Amino acid sequence: MAVWDRIVAGLAKTRRALADGFHGALGASPRGRVVSFEDLEAALIQADIGVRTTERLLTELKRSGDHEEGAVRKRLREVIAATLRPAVDTQPQTARPLVVLAVGVNGVGKTTTVAKLAARARSEGRSVLLAACDTFRAAAIEQLRVWGDRLGVDVVHQQPGSDPAAVAFDAVTAAKARGIDVVFIDSAGRLHTKHSLMDELAKVKRVIAKAEPGAPHEILLVLDATVGQNGLSQARAFHAALGVTGVVVTKVDGTSKGGIVLSVVEELGVPVKWLGLGESADALVPFDADAFAEGLVGATASSAGPLG
Ligand code: GDP
Repeated sequence: MAVWDRIVAGLAKTRRALADGFHGALGASPRGRVVSFEDLEAALIQADIGVRTTERLLTELKRSGDHEEGAVRKRLREVIAATLRPAVDTQPQTARPLVVLAVGVNGVGKTTTVAKLAARARSEGRSVLLAACDTFRAAAIEQLRVWGDRLGVDVVHQQPGSDPAAVAFDAVTAAKARGIDVVFIDSAGRLHTKHSLMDELAKVKRVIAKAEPGAPHEILLVLDATVGQNGLSQARAFHAALGVTGVVVTKVDGTSKGGIVLSVVEELGVPVKWLGLGESADALVPFDADAFAEGLVGATASSAGPLG
């Protein structure tokens, strides 16, 4: 399936939730079906688009003055795409080794995302090294090693309890010595000690730069779409501590809260680079603003067609 279709299919639950709200916002008029903006506001917030972003979208919709269903849907899709388009990053990544640090709280899909990115890089013919820097949990190291075996990729790791920054340093140094193209670094994400976690990650980042000046070239924040608006405060904390260069939104497939992507883009101003659409190694697609807008609002070519 093409990326566009996968994104639209992945957003089915969110689209359905929005469509239900949209139908609830419809009233009859002699000219056709018209939209109550008040009810539409509730529908957008329900899809986890966030109050601030919803207000801005509605301001844009009201500007055109047209309340007819088809026109509102078409305009909504345009406004959503325009909001997301600047979040698409087209910068080529030329560093070698390219060092990518993945961060995010436990359970968001960090390790799975690292594995998916590694699988993708391998399929493009690039050599890959993985680093298991969640040394806090033995199971996390093991999980990455299992992925490494499955993908045929080496995993740099040490004993549980060892210094994560030392593991990262070893991995980057080994990648340089071996002429590896990309190093993906998985990190810890325990929540109950948030401050020391941020300090630890900041240290990992500093030590990576000692092994390779200019690295990490990418700090990817992994966010779980199913937590919706709660993910925003996580995002702010990681961004403040580390300077995130890109966001991966995971589990978009299983949630009606895909609208969170709009809030993340608007609040953080950081590009969304990837969408996680399932658990398998190939269930990761590059972000596409126009496909995402269609995924949320539905196809609008025929303005009279039903949503979703
Ligand atoms: P970590 O603690 O952040 O490293 O999270 P894991 O990578 O261990 O993932 C936690 C769970 O989420 C696992 O069961 C994954 O299979 C699942 N998961 C990760 N990404 C996705 C996704 O995009 N879609 C779905 N449906 N599940 C995912």
